Amino acid sequence: MTKEYLCNLCGESMCPNEKKLSGTWSSDSPHGLVEAKVVGGYESYHLFDMSQYCFNLCEPCLRKLFVQCKIKPRINHMNFPMILDDNAKFEEAEEIAWQTDQSHYEYRVWKDDGKYHQAYVNKKCNMVKDCPNRAKYTELVSDEFTEGAACEEHKDNNSGCINCKMVPFIPNVLKPFL
Ligand SMILES: [Zn+2]
Ligand SMILES: [Zn+2]
Repeated sequence: MTKEYLCNLCGESMCPNEKKLSGTWSSDSPHGLVEAKVVGGYESYHLFDMSQYCFNLCEPCLRKLFVQCKIKPRINHMNFPMILDDNAKFEEAEEIAWQTDQSHYEYRVWKDDGKYHQAYVNKKCNMVKDCPNRAKYTELVSDEFTEGAACEEHKDNNSGCINCKMVPFIPNVLKPFL
């Protein structure tokens, strides 16, 4: 039998089993900070000397913790290491990296809450969370229709995607005729 890891903060399983519109996020392996350990030292006050504190923190709790942090975590992309020359720029880049990460996360949750689909049905742009603009374009991925809808301002949001193409908006009601 495999060991069950529980998050010390919320008490939930560390093995994700969340139902999402974009598919079930589930895994048998624990996610988050697993069996983290901290030991108090001789000068410690808030932890006791020679005591080891072991705990787990799940991903949702880590996200909440990060949001509360006065100093946000530094984010390193394993694929794109940041190359910056001076320290001032580095701090700024770290701040931007966190904000970008957090906004991508909020967009992902927004999407999974069905708001992306709802925006499409309402003929609104859904390239970013809560865009108030009307959809002018529909996104095709590998020539297949998607519910991705963009306004003029956000039409280039997926420009990094080589299989994606923007065509004039195809609303919900016209979809059956495609
Ligand atoms: Zn938790
Ligand atoms: Zn927009």
